[in-house]
Amino acid sequence: MHFEHSQKAQDYLARVKAFMKENVYPIEERIYAELEEMNPTGDWKNWKLHPELEALKVKAREQGLANLFLPDDELGKGLSCLEYAPLAEEMGRVPFSPEIFNCNAPDTGNMEVLYHFGSEQQKAKWLTPLLNGEIRSVFGMTEPDVASSDATNMAATIELDGDEVVINGKKWWSTGLGHPNAKVTVFMGLSNPENDRHSQHSMVLVPLDTPGIEIKRMLSAYGDFDAPYGHGEMHFTNVRVPKENIVMGLGKGFAIAQGRLGPGRIHHCMRAIGMAEKALELAIKRGLSRTAFGKPIIKLGGNQERIANARMAIDQARLLTLNAAWKIDAVGVKNAMTEISAIKVVVPKMLTEVVDMAIQLHGGAGMSSDFPLARFAAGARSLRLADGPDEVHQGMVTRLELKKYVSR
Ligand SMILES: Cc1cc2nc3c(=O)[nH]c(=O)nc-3n(C[C@H](O)[C@H](O)[C@H](O)COP(=O)(O)OP(=O)(O)OC[C@H]3O[C@@H](n4cnc5c(N)ncnc54)[C@H](O)[C@@H]3O)c2cc1C
Repeated sequence: MHFEHSQKAQDYLARVKAFMKENVYPIEERIYAELEEMNPTGDWKNWKLHPELEALKVKAREQGLANLFLPDDELGKGLSCLEYAPLAEEMGRVPFSPEIFNCNAPDTGNMEVLYHFGSEQQKAKWLTPLLNGEIRSVFGMTEPDVASSDATNMAATIELDGDEVVINGKKWWSTGLGHPNAKVTVFMGLSNPENDRHSQHSMVLVPLDTPGIEIKRMLSAYGDFDAPYGHGEMHFTNVRVPKENIVMGLGKGFAIAQGRLGPGRIHHCMRAIGMAEKALELAIKRGLSRTAFGKPIIKLGGNQERIANARMAIDQARLLTLNAAWKIDAVGVKNAMTEISAIKVVVPKMLTEVVDMAIQLHGGAGMSSDFPLARFAAGARSLRLADGPDEVHQGMVTRLELKKYVSR
């Protein structure tokens, strides 16, 4: 077993690290503060993009560092899931940085949907501008009125009517809906109730300016609106789009979702590991630099053990995630379901615990926006729900584990 990244991954990692060191880390704290000042409330219609971040997107693209997540040689950089993983970790240290590299969720997942399952026409209309970073997209699956952790519950409807499809229903927690450049949603809804459970739903591309779509509000997560992305609620009333906007065909929603979420979970988890590394670094620096009861805080009570526990937990989570990435590359998403579900449970929990430890070591400062830790805590907690709650993934691991015995 080799634990080294490929030469190609190492080269890209060195370039991303250099870019982050030169352009992102020096402005990190100021940008967080300025983004808050520019977008002080949940009033998304007035949200603004930060001009310095827009300029950095251009710079990253000029340096050949855009779309690193896409395995395609021409449209992306031809990096496998395992090769991209350490780059996602580096970006995860600063939550606003993935968009600089056009590698942010949910656009990455939506681009993968279009890349793998979109028609040529859909690719030209949506994938190209997404890859160019000209527009942003959202993923509309979760609904306010049904328990969406069971995705077969989705009740919003997609009905064929001649050359069009008609869409009705409500979606919420659609990440990125408040972004000034958000132009399209991948909408998942009930189209074929007569089919078996996993062939009843479809995905349709719906431009966000289509008549009948009403954006109701942005939801806050632990009080943070996550501007300029946001997590929005949108209602659809007799929304009509051409039937050519259906992705792959009616009833294919779950098949597409499975393909979309595998690599996406590696990305989420590696970014979370980057966040955990950053939280640990901040905890150590703070603990070494402040004194209480005659000693550096790091030497008080059980703090030294807490640092060791954090290091061990992060390294375990990374190994588990890289193994899942390797397995996706080697045998495909369908044959790596235990590994993919396992990291989705283990990594957000690890991040929650490491960030909580770092906040505690910082005292009151840890709760303030002078440090990114409170934002990390909200992100970590959200990750235990987004893309399915822990229990659903534990259920998957259990099912596959029991199957080994039941089928004997
Ligand atoms: C910050 C954030 C961003 C998000 N972004 C998006 C997005 O971009 N697009 C999108 O469509 N959705 C998004 N979501 C929504 C997310 O995917 C859902 O919240 C999640 O799937 C759970 O669905 P639900 O909220 O309806 O919870 P429910 O289905 O009501 O579940 C509530 C709880 O029930 C329990 N439960 C459920 N199933 C089981 C089980 N099998 N065993 C034991 N207990 C169980 C769990 O504790 C679960 O948390 C986001 C959520 C957050 C917080």
